[in-house]
Amino acid sequence: MTDVIHLLPDHVANQIAAGEVVQRPASVIKELLENAIDAKASTIQVYIKEAGKILISVIDDGSGMSITDSRLSFERHATSKIKTAEDLFQLQTKGFRGEALASIAAIAHVELKTRREEDEVGTCIKIEGSEITSQEVCVTAKGTSISVKNLFYNIPARRNFLKSDTVETRHIIDEFQRVALAHPGISFSLVHNVGELFNLPASNYRQRITNILGGKSNEKLVPVNEETEILKISGFVGKPEYAKRTRGEQFFFVNDRFIKSPYLNHAVSAAFEGLLKDRAYPSYFLYLQVDPKSIDINIHPTKTEIKFDDEHALYAILRSAIKHSLGQFNVAPVLDFER
Ligand code: ADP
Ligand code: MG
Repeated sequence: MTDVIHLLPDHVANQIAAGEVVQRPASVIKELLENAIDAKASTIQVYIKEAGKILISVIDDGSGMSITDSRLSFERHATSKIKTAEDLFQLQTKGFRGEALASIAAIAHVELKTRREEDEVGTCIKIEGSEITSQEVCVTAKGTSISVKNLFYNIPARRNFLKSDTVETRHIIDEFQRVALAHPGISFSLVHNVGELFNLPASNYRQRITNILGGKSNEKLVPVNEETEILKISGFVGKPEYAKRTRGEQFFFVNDRFIKSPYLNHAVSAAFEGLLKDRAYPSYFLYLQVDPKSIDINIHPTKTEIKFDDEHALYAILRSAIKHSLGQFNVAPVLDFER
């Protein structure tokens, strides 16, 4: 018998990796927004056509890339963000896997325009099926603009699996909001076809939240602040009377990254115990800062799950901080009278 094992060609390996990183247009938006933030952009514009199925374009005014870096950025495991395995435990950036651009370029037509401040001219690259098809010197603004066209053009099963424009746009809005809520100091806009969905000026947390929620949302926010040796909490919970019928307004951010945590969610519910009607969910926008050494983000390629060293302590601190805030704002005592 001859040997049967061989290494997969890059474009096949990239396409396999893409399956994990890119589920739908919203995943592309998330990755591109995170790259723009890591590049220290102060303004980020997003344009989508037909719910991102035809076009997703993200334009930033961040650091830009050199000619060589702009080519390398599409290689798998190519990153400027970490060098050693130890760096994984002191992450200051959203990215570190060096997979997003390689994955996206394996399953879409991508155009990149980029220029660093110190360069007179920029680099424009077109890439298709992981192959660079054109690269030229070009005139472009400082920063980076990436257009992702015809997502899943070469994976019909994936393309057919996409939901209606309404549903895919909803997913995009969700990702966009999560990132925008985590970074109020950056201005963001989102345009779908010709309609502007969001235009968020740089501001503070409270203002960013109310800009996104709209209406009289400012009135319903109760500030939460707590600092202990292992955890710093800031942000807001919604007053109980504004609780929702869905979990749509529940946001945890850990070190400026949106995460899902049923366990911590339970801590919030526990703080609201007795204050809510059945099947009502409190709104919350909670920003947790912990030592990067005490968490592991490298659990899943989409990085929305985190492993905490001391989950139980975080639970207790969070619950008591929220209870304290609700009490201070005279939200909780009402019930005491009823008893
Ligand atoms: P990661 O973000 O994990 O490093 P990516 O594939 O998303 O991996 O990006 C690869 C590299 O390309 C980044 O490390 C960064 O150096 C560069 N890059 C990507 N997007 C941008 C951008 N918008 N501005 C500047 N550099 C970028
Ligand atoms: Mg990235």
